[in-house]
Amino acid sequence: MSVSRRGFLSTGALAATSRFLPPALAQTPALQTKGARLDFRPLELKLTHTWTIARGSANEKKNGLLTLTADGVTGYGEAAANVRYKQSWDSGEAAFHRMKTAVEGLSPWEHLAWLERAEKAAGDDYDVVAALDMALWDWKGKKVGRPVHELLGIPKDRMSVTTFSIGIDTAEVMKQKVKEAEKYPFLKVKVGLPSDEENFAAIRSVTKKPIRVDANEGWTAEEAIRKIRWLASQGVEFVEQPLPAAKNGEMKKVKDGSPLPIIADESVLHPKDVPPLLGLFDGINIKIQKCGGITRGYELAAMGRALGLSLMLGCMIESSLGIASGVAVAPLFDFLDLDGNLLISNDPFKGLTITDGRWRLPDAPGLGVVMA
Ligand SMILES: [Mg+2]
Repeated sequence: MSVSRRGFLSTGALAATSRFLPPALAQTPALQTKGARLDFRPLELKLTHTWTIARGSANEKKNGLLTLTADGVTGYGEAAANVRYKQSWDSGEAAFHRMKTAVEGLSPWEHLAWLERAEKAAGDDYDVVAALDMALWDWKGKKVGRPVHELLGIPKDRMSVTTFSIGIDTAEVMKQKVKEAEKYPFLKVKVGLPSDEENFAAIRSVTKKPIRVDANEGWTAEEAIRKIRWLASQGVEFVEQPLPAAKNGEMKKVKDGSPLPIIADESVLHPKDVPPLLGLFDGINIKIQKCGGITRGYELAAMGRALGLSLMLGCMIESSLGIASGVAVAPLFDFLDLDGNLLISNDPFKGLTITDGRWRLPDAPGLGVVMA
C-alpha cells in the first residue's frame, strides 16, 4: 500500500499528538466541535468593608457569570461592570445577548473569531467580552487537561507579590484595615480626596510597609505635583493615575515634576491607547476586565514591554474566577494588584492559593478554579 508523503506526515503527527492527550480528547475529533451554549447570570459579591475610592462608595458588587458549554465541558468567565467605563449589570446583560447572537455557530476552537465578533457587538461592555474570553480559555484548558498559563506559555518562575488595597475610610477604620492586611508585604492606598494627607498619616502611624498609591483621576496637575512630592517622603513607591484620563495633555508637567514613577490606569484600555502615553507615564496598569480579556491583556503587556513601559496588572472587585484569569498571566508583569477576591466575604469560587502575598499558578486544568 502506498502512502503519500503528506498523508504519512499527518498520520504520524496525529499519532504523536494523541500520545500526549487525555483519552477522551485523543478519541474525539475536537476541532469539529460546533457551537456552544452560552448563559449569563448575576454573581452577587459582598464586600468585607465599604469600598471607597475617589469616585464613590459600595458595599456590594453585582458581577456577571458567563458559562460556555460545548462537548460536555463548561468554561467559566466573570464580568465586573465598572461605572467609570459606562458599564452596569443591565448594560452587560444586554451586550451579552447581542454577543451571543454574533458568535452563533462558532466552534470554541475559533477563539479569535469569537473575540472579533464579540468586541464589535459589545459596545462599551468590554467586561462581558472579558468574561467570554476567560470562558473560552477555561474551556480549552479543561478540554486538553492543562492550565491556561501553560497554554499561553507563561513563565512559571517570576510571580511578583501582590499589593493589598486599603480603601478610603475614617482614620480608625483604615488603621484596622492595615492590621487585617498583616499577611501582605505591600499595600495599595486609595487617595484623591481633600483628606489625603490625614488618611495617609493614619496608615503610616501603624505600618512601615512599602505603599503604592492610586489617585483614581482625583487630582489637578498642581495638586498632583504637590501631593506626589509629599508622598515621596512617606515611603511611597509609585502613583497611579493622578489626573483624569481626559487630561493626559497635562501629564508631561506632572511627570516632569514628580519624584516618583507614575502609572497610567484609566488612561489605558486597549493596545491603541499605549503609544500616545509614551513620555507621559512610566508604566501602565492593565486589567483583564478593562481591555476585554486574557488575550487582549497579553497583547497589551507585550506592547507595553516592547515600548519600555513598566507593567502592572490590576483588577476590579471580582471573585476568584476573575482573579484566576489575572493570575494566569501575572508572571508577565512587574507589579501586581490582584486582590479583588480578598476584599469580598462570599467568594463563589475556590482553587487559588496565596502565600505571603504571592499567588501560586494553579496546576488544575483551565483557570484552575471551581464553584465553592
Ligand atoms: Mg487604579
